[in-house]
This record gives sequence, structure tokens and C-alpha cells, in this order.
Amino acid sequence: MLKSHDRFYSEDGKRLVLIVEDEPVNRALLSVYLEDEYDVLEAEDGVQALEIIRENQSLLSLVILDLMMPKMSGQEVLEIMQGSDELRRIPVIVLTSDEDAEVPSLQQGAADFIKKPLEKPAVVQARIRRIIELSEDTYIIQNTERDDLTGLLNKEFFYRYSELFKLHHPSWDMDALVMDVNNFHLINEIQGRAFGDRILKQIGERIMSRVPGTGGVAGRSHADTFLLYLPSGTDYEELRDMLMEDLTNDLSNPRVHLRLGVYRETDKNLPMERCFDRAKMAADLIRNNYDRGISLYDDNLHEQDLKNQKLINDMQKAIDEKQFLVYYQPKYDITGEKPVLKSAEALIRWKHPEMGMISPGIFIPLFEKNGLIQRLDRYVWKEAAEQMRRWREKFGVTVPVSVNVSRIDMYAADFVPFLKALMKENEIKPEDYFLEITESAYTENSVQLIQTVEELRGYGFHIEMDDFGSGYSSLNMLAEMPIDVLKLDMRFIRNLHNSDRNTRMVELMLDIAHRLGVIAVAEGVETEEQMLDLKRMGCQRIQGYYFSGPVPPEEFERFIEEVI
Ligand code: C2E
Ligand code: CA
Ligand code: CA
Repeated sequence: MLKSHDRFYSEDGKRLVLIVEDEPVNRALLSVYLEDEYDVLEAEDGVQALEIIRENQSLLSLVILDLMMPKMSGQEVLEIMQGSDELRRIPVIVLTSDEDAEVPSLQQGAADFIKKPLEKPAVVQARIRRIIELSEDTYIIQNTERDDLTGLLNKEFFYRYSELFKLHHPSWDMDALVMDVNNFHLINEIQGRAFGDRILKQIGERIMSRVPGTGGVAGRSHADTFLLYLPSGTDYEELRDMLMEDLTNDLSNPRVHLRLGVYRETDKNLPMERCFDRAKMAADLIRNNYDRGISLYDDNLHEQDLKNQKLINDMQKAIDEKQFLVYYQPKYDITGEKPVLKSAEALIRWKHPEMGMISPGIFIPLFEKNGLIQRLDRYVWKEAAEQMRRWREKFGVTVPVSVNVSRIDMYAADFVPFLKALMKENEIKPEDYFLEITESAYTENSVQLIQTVEELRGYGFHIEMDDFGSGYSSLNMLAEMPIDVLKLDMRFIRNLHNSDRNTRMVELMLDIAHRLGVIAVAEGVETEEQMLDLKRMGCQRIQGYYFSGPVPPEEFERFIEEVI
């Protein structure tokens, strides 16, 4: 698939035009007419023209072609272009003093003609502009892929079209908007996917009925995320109300709540996708907030965005310079009289030379979004495996370690081989190497993902479901999921004591673990009270500040020394 606008503009943002004309005066004159607005190439006969056209075929926006030329005539060039799949899409304007040649050249595939001697520059320029615009619009329409469900542009074409829109309307002030449905997954979960689809379709129809009138562009990115590129000054409150009105007229269904993030396009040079990233940042700020429906990208977010970009830019260098540190947090078995060290979780830290210690809570989500996480995770997995080997050599015992696995890690073709090789290199039994996969990754319920996890388990790896209770696994799904350990989400532990509801939830989750025959781990345990409560309820393992936060490997050794 084509990347956005690589076909329409050369690198400096100007379109590329070829003038083919054997008379030097005409060539020079046309060139002068065009050079402000376009990058201009020149050819003085048909043979040279074809050479240049082939060389620049993906970039050329237009060929202006004289008909009478030595070596190869304009008609011949036109004929060859029309016969080629690649060259046919480049519009050709024929240059002629012979009025009789006009109709035949149009029949041969020319888009328009310009008379010789040349008319006033403005007339010629307008003609050229119109033909280019027309051909690009046609190209887009012919190649546009619309989203099946809503009929709106899909993400790829939306960005491309918006980019074109901006080029054609350079003086317009535009806003980038990201819109989604609050807790859409709950609508799908509770009312079923068909109902969810119906809601999305309705939203799509309303957008279609409204947006063309504002002179904007609309698309759907994925799931419940819609993209709008609209002229500044549009009343977004009103737009949102209109889109939301009667979305569920059935009283038994909850009201559908739309959330809008707005980026006022102040930086015209920012690529379209980044404008929408900013709008998304604004939208995310009011996630789950039912009081606010519209959120603007402001200075605070801008500062944060710049920081995020810096982290993304710095990441590779940080790996090379070993700025990333792996800390270890102990997990204790509490089934006996005294807690006993059982294993550790490897948690990454970033010691940034300018920004100091950065918590993974900040950079992990960032790297998960753009795929950089893979490199980082593999770095951690390797570090952890090597650490296990060093401890074994030093203390004569194996400390099982669990590492975190992001959802995208598992889609890499060499994911399983990579881990297997790591075990071999460091002589680690896979049973001692735990992989923590967050519950929400399973919710996706992808066959490929489940198969991958099965394969890992088949090889002997132990799988922990992280943050259990935060996702939306249904019970029957759980029974089929390949796991060895359930790790209760911290939120339930935090309020264990002052909430009956949380206590019941924890009891329920422990019961599920018991029925599935898997081990239950509670993390985020900070007090003795919490620890005793959990023990009483039958929880087998505990991780949390009560024992220790994550510490550097040297410091972790004191926990190992307790057990040897
Ligand atoms: P997580 O996997 O759920 O890790 C547990 C987090 O809870 C850790 O935060 C840990 O420091 C913190 N924690 C442990 N005990 C307590 C406690 O008693 N009270 C409180 N309030 N917090 C406690 P951390 O290290 O900041 O990591 C945050 C998240 O970042 C992790 O959540 C995990 O999702 C992600 N992460 C960390 N390291 C990696 C990594 O190497 N790869 C990937 N993909 N994600 C990682
Ligand atoms: Ca974890
Ligand atoms: Ca967790």
C-alpha cells in the first residue's frame, strides 16, 4: 500500500512537472510560468522525455507535451504512456498550435491542451492547477478504501486525503479531532458485538450527513475511534450533541457517551498523523470522565508530548549506553509459618542522563504504541536470564525470575525461538523462567496469541496472567486459557480492608484460581494487615512493599542469602 502522499509531492512539498518542448524559447517561458509553484524538469524531444518520465514516474504530477518534435513525436510519447499501467496515471497536457490536433489528442488520453503561442501566465497556471487537482482527486477516489462498517475513509486514506486537503487550502485554519466512545468495550461486552457495530454505524452515518457540509474530512481509524479534520470554529459541543442524540433510544441501554480530543493545527508543518496523535493525547485525558466530553490539546500536553518524543528519540542510545537498569522485586510464599522467598519479578528502570530516574509507567506505554517495546523487552529478558545464571554461579541456587511480556512481543515470528535460545545459552530450565502477560492481552482472544502461549507452555515455560481483574475475561474464557499463575490486580489489594466489595472480589478471584488449579499471587501488598488477610483467604504468594520494592540486583542478594 502507498504511504501517504509519496506519490503526489517531491521532498520539498512541491509537485513535479515535466515540460517537453523542442523550441527553447517556449520551454524557457513555460518554465518561468511554473517554477514558483512547481519543481520543473525539461526535455527537448520525445526520447529524452520518456527517459525522464520513467525515472520519475512515481513523483511526476504532470507532463506538458509538445506534439511536433524531432526524434519522437508527442503523439508517440502519449501512446506509449497510455499503454503502460505505471505511466497512464500521469496526466498529460498537450501543447499545440494546430487546433485540429486538439480533439485527437484528447481521444488519445491527453487531459487538456494549451495553445501556442502561450496565453497569459495566469490562464496557463490555472489550467495546469486544475488538471493536477482533478487527476489527484480521481486517483484518490479510484484507490480509496472505505471502511466497510461505516462507509467513512479508512485511516490510511483519511491521513492522505487530509494532507491533500491541507495543501489545497493552505490558508484555512483546521483542527484535528479524535473521537471515541467511552468504554466501548463494555457496550460490546454487555450488549454484544452486533449492537456495538450498530452504534458505530449510526455514528458513521451522522458524521457523513454532517461533515461534508463543514468542508472537512472524516474517517474511522479502528474500533470506535473516529478521525475528523475540520475547519476551526466548528462548534464541537453542538457537533457532539448531534452525533450523540438518541444513539440509544432504547431505555434499557445506557447512554452512549462520546469523547472528543481536539488539536488546533497551529503547526502547519507537523505531519498529519502527529496532529492526530496530539488530538488523541487530549482525548485520553478525559478517558472514563463522563462529565467532560471535549478536551483540548494545550500547553501542558504539548510539553508532555515534547518529552515523550525525546524519550522515543533517546531510546536506542539508552540501550547502547546501558541506561536501562533491571531491578528485582521479591515474591514470597506465605503458605507456611514464615514467608519464604520464592522468586523475583524483573522490572525495568531508566536512568536518563538528563531527566533522572524514569518510571516504566511513563515510557512503557509509549514504546508499546510504536513497537519499540520489543527491543527493550528482549533486553530485559536477556539481562534477567544472565542475572539468574550469575546468581546460580555465586549462590548455588536458582532464583526463578518472571519477566513482563507485552502483547506485541508475542506476534514476532521469532518470539518463541528467542526465548528458547536464551534458556539454552544460560542453562536455565524454562520452568524457572516466568512470563507475565497482562490480562487485557488475552481479552483480545486472538487465536494466534493463545497458540503462542500454548507453545511456550509446551516447552515448559510458566505463564502468569498479570493484572487479573483489570481486564474483562469471561469465566469460560478463563477456563480455556493456558496459564499457571493468576496475579491479582493491585487495585483490589489496596482497598482490601476498607471495602467489603473488594474483599469479596479478592475472595472470588482466589476461588477462581483455586478452581483452575493455578497459583494465586497478590501484588501491591504494603501492610502486614493486608498480608494476613490474604493469607487467611488462601492466597499463596505475595509481592509488595511490605517485603520490598524493586531493588538493584546487588541489593536483592540479601533476600537470596536468607534462603541459602
Ligand atoms: P506490573 O507488571 O503490574 O508491575 C508491578 C508494579 O507495581 C511495579 O511498578 C512495582 O514497582 C509496583 N509495586 C510493587 N509493589 C508495590 C506496592 O506494594 N505498592 C505499590 N503502590 N506499587 C507496588 P513499576 O516497576 O513502576 O512498573 C510499572 C509497570 O510497567 C509494570 O506493572 C509493567 O506493566 C510495566 N513494566 C515494568 N517493567 C517492564 C518490562 O521490562 N517490560 C514491560 N513490557 N513492561 C514493564
Ligand atoms: Ca508484571
Ligand atoms: Ca501487575
